[in-house]
Parts: sequence; structure tokens; C-alpha cells
Amino acid sequence: MRRKLIAGNWKMNGSLAANAVLLNGIKADLGQAACDVAVCVPAPYLAQCRAELAATPIGWGAQDISVHESGAYTGEVAAGMLLDFDCSYVIVGHSERRTYHAESSQLVAQKALRALNTELTPIVCVGESLAEREAGKTADVVGEQVDAVLAALNTEQLAKIVIAYEPVWAIGTGKTATPEMAQEVHAMLRAKLVEEDSTVAKGVKILYGGSMKPDNARELLAMPDIDGGLIGGASLKAADFLAIIHAA
Ligand code: PEP
Repeated sequence: MRRKLIAGNWKMNGSLAANAVLLNGIKADLGQAACDVAVCVPAPYLAQCRAELAATPIGWGAQDISVHESGAYTGEVAAGMLLDFDCSYVIVGHSERRTYHAESSQLVAQKALRALNTELTPIVCVGESLAEREAGKTADVVGEQVDAVLAALNTEQLAKIVIAYEPVWAIGTGKTATPEMAQEVHAMLRAKLVEEDSTVAKGVKILYGGSMKPDNARELLAMPDIDGGLIGGASLKAADFLAIIHAA
């Protein structure tokens, strides 16, 4: 059985003071969480996460990495640098990166590979826009995004990734996919993994992301192929993030 993962994506939010309040709030009421928990934070706050979270079951990581190992890539952060801060996770291919930074599915797949080669768990985001959904292209779009990853990774590597299905129209909008809509795409993704290796497919976590909140988390997380959540807005409030963790 897959253990659920609830991962926060803070995006470009936070300050040392605000993060301390948030992390202490999460730690105070985490209790015996029956799921894995992580926060993916802006790179300048990774040291703070390590200091605050090292003695807890909460993991931490970044929101992007460079596809390159090191060198003249001004402004980028190398996967290896995340290891200096004991990160476990890195998000790759978030729709905000695909949209605002023109990241292709092939680049995202290479970033996932870079993360794996650095002993980091990539949380690979896939998802369709509203126009694509309305045009009936969800399976094609999400399929193309995941196929690029499947083409780049061998089955041993595949077993180590986390996938996050995040319909772009649901991110930060308050609109959520119904549990059935999300499950349909998650099942399609699982079927693609089965084509690669049925044993590996059973173990890979597929998270849902897109306006997951305390009031809709339970029914989304009850679906058979939804193995957790990638949480944006609601991960910035300790009470909301904890409520989702406890729903899982
Ligand atoms: C996200 O950015 O990954 C996300 C799911 O955001 P939100 O929960 O705010 O929709």
C-alpha cells in the first residue's frame, strides 16, 4: 500500500519571521502523522528549514533545479547544492515554470533525471490548461508530459519519482477538480506506469494539486489512485496544512 504524501509548495512566499511561525505551528500540532509530510520552499530558506525540521518527521526541498550540474548559469540552483541543505525533495515542471519559463516536457524530464542522479526525489508536475480540458485534450496533454519522463528514466529510476497531477485551471483559483475528474486522470497516469512495469506502477505516488483545502481534501484523498497532495495556498497556514495532513 502506498503511504500518502502531503507536500507544501510555498511558491515565492515567506520571510524568516513568517516561516518560523508557520513551521512552529505545523510542528506543534503534527502529532503522529500517518502520512509523509514535506515543504518545498524558496531556496534562501532551505537552511532555516533544516534548522527547524531536522529533528522532525517533516521533509523539505526546493521548487526547481537547474538541468546543469554546475557552471555559468547565473541565477540557477544546482541539485547538488540542495544536498548541502539535506533536502529530500525537489519539484520539477510546475505549471508556473512551464508557463512563465517556457520549460518543455523534455527539459522537465531531464531535471527529474538530474534530481534522481543527485539522490533527490523529484515531484514531477503535469497538468492541462482549461482550454485543453475544454477541447477534450486532457489525456493527450498530460500523456505527452508524462511520456517525456518515461522516455528519460529507466524503471529503477521511475520507482523513485513522485508525480503530481495539477490541472492548471485549478491552481490558485479555488476551483478544484472533482474527486472523480482527478481520479480519472490519476488512473490514466497509473495505466501508463503499468505499461512500463506493473510492480513499479503500484508503488509510485501520484499526488493531486490544485486548490486542495481542508474542506475538500478528505474526498480527494479517498480516491484509489490519489496518493496525497501538492498544496499551494493552504500550505501557508499551519491550521489548513495540518487539517489536510490529518485528512490524509
Ligand atoms: C500548486 O501551486 O502546486 C498548487 C496546487 O497551488 P494551490 O493549492 O494554491 O492551488
